[in-house]
Amino acid sequence: MAKQEQTNNPHNVCTWKPVSECKNCTIVGRLKCRCGSGDLLHFIGLFLSFLFPALIGIVLSGYSWSLLGWAGLAVIFFGFWEIRILCSHCPFYAEKGRVLHCIANYGCPKFWKYHPEPINNSEKIQLVIGFILICGYPFPFLILGRQFILSLLTAWGLILFFWTSQKYTCSKCVNFSCLLNRVPREVVDEYLKHNPAIRKAWEENGWQIGVVTS
Ligand code: SF4
Ligand code: SF4
Repeated sequence: MAKQEQTNNPHNVCTWKPVSECKNCTIVGRLKCRCGSGDLLHFIGLFLSFLFPALIGIVLSGYSWSLLGWAGLAVIFFGFWEIRILCSHCPFYAEKGRVLHCIANYGCPKFWKYHPEPINNSEKIQLVIGFILICGYPFPFLILGRQFILSLLTAWGLILFFWTSQKYTCSKCVNFSCLLNRVPREVVDEYLKHNPAIRKAWEENGWQIGVVTS
């Protein structure tokens, strides 16, 4: 079993090692560092609180045709673009294989190689642009279609999604260089100490273990 997991783990990332190797870890419970169905369902449920009112509102507004554009944008963003600029830097992406297994974008294809180095500024800007496009897309149609209550519910779903993610997911997510990540620096350091390949890539890009920032 251990041998099989090891062949799936070419970068020797602790997230993909057997759970038995976590028993002496000092940051157990501080990170969502294992792929669990509970975390995935929590993420999907939260996203649906934004998606459902938006879908209903667009259909009622008479702009159903616009859903094709939204679906196309989602395929491009979640299938290729976001996966490259965000997920390809994540330890979950380091697993060997063509499909992503993680606590959010589970099942997305992995067309890109794994990038252990931190996300750069250009990628962070692209992520903001991508989020604005994906999350902002339904609002013009809802407003043009005079679906004001469903616009508010969609906006509330979006606020709920980001607020809850920040509090319960981003504060424990192992993609530490993401713009939204909230993991304390000392926990990042400990994770890097468990993962020499990632640590090397981060130190080559300026990260210093043990440095306290104000
Ligand atoms: S950080 Fe790594 S070693 Fe520690 S609990 Fe998570 S997966 Fe296990
Ligand atoms: S950044 Fe988030 S969505 Fe992407 S692989 Fe990591 S946990 Fe999954």
